[in-house]
Amino acid sequence: MRAFRLHSTGHASVLAVASPEPCGNALCLDVCACALCRTDAKMWDCGHRDLVLPRTLGHEICAEDPETGGRWVVWPGQACGACSACCGGCENLCPSMRILGFHVDGGLATKVLVDRSALIPLPVGLDPHLATLAEPLGCCLNALDALRFQPGESLQVIGGGPVGLLMALAAVEAGGHARLCEREETRRERSRAFLECLGIGPATGSAVGDACDAAVAACPGTGAFTAALSALRPGGRFCFFSGLPGGKHVPAQDLNPIHYRQLTVTGAYGCTRDQMARALALLAEHGCIAARLIDGQFGLEDVPGLLPEILAGARMKCVIIPRE
Ligand SMILES: [Zn+2]
Ligand SMILES: [Zn+2]
Repeated sequence: MRAFRLHSTGHASVLAVASPEPCGNALCLDVCACALCRTDAKMWDCGHRDLVLPRTLGHEICAEDPETGGRWVVWPGQACGACSACCGGCENLCPSMRILGFHVDGGLATKVLVDRSALIPLPVGLDPHLATLAEPLGCCLNALDALRFQPGESLQVIGGGPVGLLMALAAVEAGGHARLCEREETRRERSRAFLECLGIGPATGSAVGDACDAAVAACPGTGAFTAALSALRPGGRFCFFSGLPGGKHVPAQDLNPIHYRQLTVTGAYGCTRDQMARALALLAEHGCIAARLIDGQFGLEDVPGLLPEILAGARMKCVIIPRE
């Protein structure tokens, strides 16, 4: 089979590798589609806390069982199922968590080995390439759950990339109001049609006002962090959704609004299987809106050229359709 392998930071290639063997509860599935994520590009560029090299990347996966023809979306986590996080419904926080495309081989390959417990049935009528959005949308639902976001509340989203836009979709679906800010004009323009479909006005160049109930930074950088805090009303809630780049510091005075305006700060990392299943149901309902996030369908051999473009923010969602 063929796979996109990251050998070491900055060194990756598409090559022939041995197919995984099904064993125990794990099935060897044919990958129908696997979307590229900014995290994949970051791993290629500078590694990641949870990355174990060398590795076949890809964690936004839709795959088919060659035996039964059944199609599945893959929750990329493998949790222990027994610890307090797992038993408390937060299996994304399992200390023994192993993630497809991070600790174990992922879906940027013609085949992928997946535990049965990670499979979520593909809804009838939903195209596999759109279903790959269930993972990033599931992460957005996790952020809203962490924020305890309520109907009627307002959410300021910082960053108009695919995840920022999915965050806006999730907020509107939760009965809330979303506003989005994006620094780059080209990205603001590109987000316009999607936001229009959601009934949201165009993205602004910076966070406007300080009256939002909740805020989330869906892009890297310390500027996004401080912009999100500044958009909140007194007593508002901020979700630490994008990790800050190493070596960067948030000036102490930029943290003081947490004190003076009594803000609540929460974190979010990944999503649970249940959040991903909810995301998939949303996509089945709003496939035509979600389709506006897809830049195109590509082959495995296109991945090396796409990663720097994703890193530069020049792409929306690129979906890989792996073929032998
Ligand atoms: Zn991702
Ligand atoms: Zn666990």
